[in-house]
Amino acid sequence: MKDQFGREIEYARISVTDRCNLRCRYCMPECGVKKIPHAEILTLEEVLHVAEIFSRLGIRKIRLTGGEPLLRKNLSTLVRELKNLSGIEQVTLTTNGVLLKNFAPELIAAGLDGVNLSLDTLDENIFADLTRRKLFGKVLEGLQTLDKNLSVKINCVPLRGVNDGEILRLAALAEKNFIKVRFIELMPIGCAWESGLRGIPAAEIFSKLEKTFGRLVPVREKNSLQGPAKYFQPKNFVGQIGFIDALEHKFCGSCNRVRLTAEGFLKTCLSFDAGLDVKKLLRAGVGDEELSEKISDAIYHKPREHFFDGDKKFRDKRQMYQVGG
Ligand code: SAM
Ligand code: SF4
Repeated sequence: MKDQFGREIEYARISVTDRCNLRCRYCMPECGVKKIPHAEILTLEEVLHVAEIFSRLGIRKIRLTGGEPLLRKNLSTLVRELKNLSGIEQVTLTTNGVLLKNFAPELIAAGLDGVNLSLDTLDENIFADLTRRKLFGKVLEGLQTLDKNLSVKINCVPLRGVNDGEILRLAALAEKNFIKVRFIELMPIGCAWESGLRGIPAAEIFSKLEKTFGRLVPVREKNSLQGPAKYFQPKNFVGQIGFIDALEHKFCGSCNRVRLTAEGFLKTCLSFDAGLDVKKLLRAGVGDEELSEKISDAIYHKPREHFFDGDKKFRDKRQMYQVGG
């Protein structure tokens, strides 16, 4: 369906939990994390119910995220059921990779189309410092289990003075592997404000990569479900390098997504609280037709653009782990 600005909304990111087995400095506080009570988290049946309504409204791609989505029980059953919904063309996962080795085979068997693995460093000490957990070995094992037929993207958030020395090594993963390594600008949300961490502009990374790997040739993307990343390929690479620069270049004009939080709030823009309490309606026993109308109305009123650099009082107070990235 189209929103009030004529944007085709066809992609939903669904967070299935707010729990996480890492504590990345830019995403989650080390302690004092207030967990949502289990009863307040959507059941998998409820998630499926909302996804079915989404699909009728024109959503074609679903990404499961968290917190850490692999902590949610029966995730592969959900993947299989989402794949069976008519209209859903792609079901993908964003994960920190810690549990990937355990679950990759069943997720692939359930029909998962792709995995985005968040990996900010290939150095185990930097990993332990940044995520506050010594689990780098598990992530590496997870990465190695990934099926060659699956679409694999590595997501890295470059941080000044933390992992800037890792950028070339991470990019080089795409040299001989058919994967996409993407650099994402740090967004000023929740912990990212308070941590004192500073992101690195995409343009700076771009020129650093060109100096080492030669010209980054733009890759033309034909798939409208692709999202906001811009992709490039150095001459001798089989994989690609992507950039998501939400701050330098706002891509709100072509935004095609909505988000469903683990507690069932339909969030129509990353930076605002705008949206709809879907869980409240579901649990009040609202009928499908009314629910669909209300969701459709909320999507229609999706805000025009994010406002990260604007007045604090307009910002959503949710942390990234509560939204799912
Ligand atoms: N736990 C999973 C993971 O890390 O992939 C899924 C949830 S996590 C919130 C999703 C993505 O959001 C990760 O790639 C993470 O790096 C990214 N992220 C978290 N906080 C961010 C921030 N302030 N700016 C940019 N990306 C952020
Ligand atoms: Fe957990 Fe992902 Fe947030 Fe890191 S980025 S703390 S892995 S939810």
